[in-house]
Amino acid sequence: MRPEDLLQPTPQGLYCPPAGVHIDPLRPVRRALITHGHSDHARAGHDAVMATEATLKVMAIRYGEDFAGATQAATWHDPVTINGVRFSFHPAGHIHGSAQIAVEHGGLKIVVSGDYKRAADPTAEGFEVVPCDVFITEATFGLPVFRHPDASDEVARLLASVALFPERAHMVGAYSLGKAQRVMALVRQAGHDRPIYLHGAMEKLTRFYESEGFDFGDVRLARDAEKGELGGAIIICPPGSMKDLWARRFPDPVTAFASGWMRVRARAKQGGVELPLVISDHADWDELGRTVLDTGAGEVWVTHGQEDALVHWCGTRGLKAKPLRLVGYGDEGEAEAPAAETAG
Ligand SMILES: [Zn+2]
Ligand SMILES: [Zn+2]
Repeated sequence: MRPEDLLQPTPQGLYCPPAGVHIDPLRPVRRALITHGHSDHARAGHDAVMATEATLKVMAIRYGEDFAGATQAATWHDPVTINGVRFSFHPAGHIHGSAQIAVEHGGLKIVVSGDYKRAADPTAEGFEVVPCDVFITEATFGLPVFRHPDASDEVARLLASVALFPERAHMVGAYSLGKAQRVMALVRQAGHDRPIYLHGAMEKLTRFYESEGFDFGDVRLARDAEKGELGGAIIICPPGSMKDLWARRFPDPVTAFASGWMRVRARAKQGGVELPLVISDHADWDELGRTVLDTGAGEVWVTHGQEDALVHWCGTRGLKAKPLRLVGYGDEGEAEAPAAETAG
């Protein structure tokens, strides 16, 4: 069997013809397998959805309990066979519940990695290398210029600023699902024990993480705070809200933004970000290459992001590689600019 017969790009997303299954479909389909809860991958309206328990819960929070006709929870590593094709879910390290999906049929194994990272994250199950014949990877940060520093060093810079400007509120723009909770966990790991304040739009997802056993300490809603409380306080909010009326009542705010894109100084400047924090939930250039090699795959398909550099790099390693040029991914999370929050 050729890899293209097992998985192929279609306008709806990756499709597995023998199983009749789409992975992370962009439009409603009969049967969808979903890697993680970000809205560019997890959409409402499919007849049937299989995903990890955490991803199903995130979808229910965002889209309502009836987001799909039927749902099935995938257990880590436990294969499920659909029309003779074996599917299994493996941690991707991107956000809580995020999975790579392995597809096996007729002696061929393809891994769809969704979005992933290798760096440590106290709020996500650690990435596991899944050996395969064909590795399908994103390339959001697929250029050699992207090398993410240690996230705890970035959080140390935030806390240094809080210490330096104890009168000023510190507004940290962070994407609502995954990044916000990771930043809070890192702030706690660094020993900061004052209350953390939250934009209301992040409350449901943060309470969900807490219900899953993650502990962020004393987390309060910013809207309930007295103005006097917020000097020197850390306020986590959606990037798009930092310029809203909402933000005007905070004392002399320092604006920070947690994103892999903050590696690009011009982006930070353009967004009016005073304190750029390079904290990414995607693999950087080195991680992409290392992961490709670790899987032992002889062939690499690149779904979205900076496909060309990674495809070229694979060629220099003697690996077969091609861009899939799937459109519609990368519209949420890291892809968002500081000034433009997407829905959800
Ligand atoms: Zn994502
Ligand atoms: Zn994505």
